[in-house]
Amino acid sequence: MARVAFIGVGNMGGPMAINLVEAGHDVHAVDRDPASVALVSAAGGHAAGDVAVAVADAEAVFTMLPAGDQVREVYFGAGGVLERARPDALLVDCSTIDVATAREVASAATARGLDMLDAPVSGGVGGAVAATLTFMVGGTDAGLSRAQPLLERMGRTVVHTGGPGNGQAAKLCNNLILGISMIGVAEAFTLAHALGLDPQKLFDVSSTSSGQCWSLTTYCPVPGPVPSSPANRDYAPGFTAEMMLKDLKLAQTAAGVGGVATPLGAAAAVLYQLAVNGGLGKKDFSAIIKMLET
Ligand code: NAD
Repeated sequence: MARVAFIGVGNMGGPMAINLVEAGHDVHAVDRDPASVALVSAAGGHAAGDVAVAVADAEAVFTMLPAGDQVREVYFGAGGVLERARPDALLVDCSTIDVATAREVASAATARGLDMLDAPVSGGVGGAVAATLTFMVGGTDAGLSRAQPLLERMGRTVVHTGGPGNGQAAKLCNNLILGISMIGVAEAFTLAHALGLDPQKLFDVSSTSSGQCWSLTTYCPVPGPVPSSPANRDYAPGFTAEMMLKDLKLAQTAAGVGGVATPLGAAAAVLYQLAVNGGLGKKDFSAIIKMLET
């Protein structure tokens, strides 16, 4: 069993770390929030105190942090991962961050002779708890082979998407599709209501015809047709509108750097910004329909 440092044990990292503990690994957790670390300790992990202590003897170092700034701090900072990790440690960043930062950190790790993967996830908190996440992995074959036994304890699907940063690239492109498609589905249900069309009838038609998509069939933004969708519990997340906004902004930054036109992605980012400004930030991202309905 491996000795693992897990840095960032919040909503996602906490249950991921606990799944590693339950698989028998020796997990040393770090987080700015002591209550989050306490949950991992209660499950049989250890509170490491700080990053330097956690990584000192770790064979694998996982990070699950909010954004690129925190990843830079934890990897590049004094007493950080790159300074203190064992020379043979495997580094895996599961946070969703910008592609440029992911590539910069991976390049600095490689310069130190360390294997590093970017491995953002899809599947939300439910997937983290149930160990059914999808990992999108950028990095070397050798790094992925080392990570695979650990990733398989936290997720169900592991896709090697290419070299460093390509995990983040896949994540941003996927969520670009998701953000746009949810707005499309929400617009359709809003129009259906205005036209006197029963939402269940629209669902029955679109879920079996060319309008079919995940935003409709799994996360339907109106209550009723899909009983497990957040709309049936007052849009409790799920995946929050502010996280969708974050990912759409990352996609816009990447599109800008690459000179790629993503006009619907740009519009989606503006609409999610308005939703967040209007107080829907902590709701599931499907709550964007509430803004369209007003
Ligand atoms: P979270 O805010 O619950 O957890 C992040 C944790 O990192 C917090 O506990 C925070 O205290 C800790 N942290 C921040 N800076 C730190 C530092 N310098 N040192 C140590 N700990 C630090 O967020 P989350 O929902 O767990 O999301 C984590 C990442 O996963 C994000 O990048 C997010 O975009 C991505 N993600 C989230 C979901 C989801 O549904 N929540 C789904 C897919 C991907």
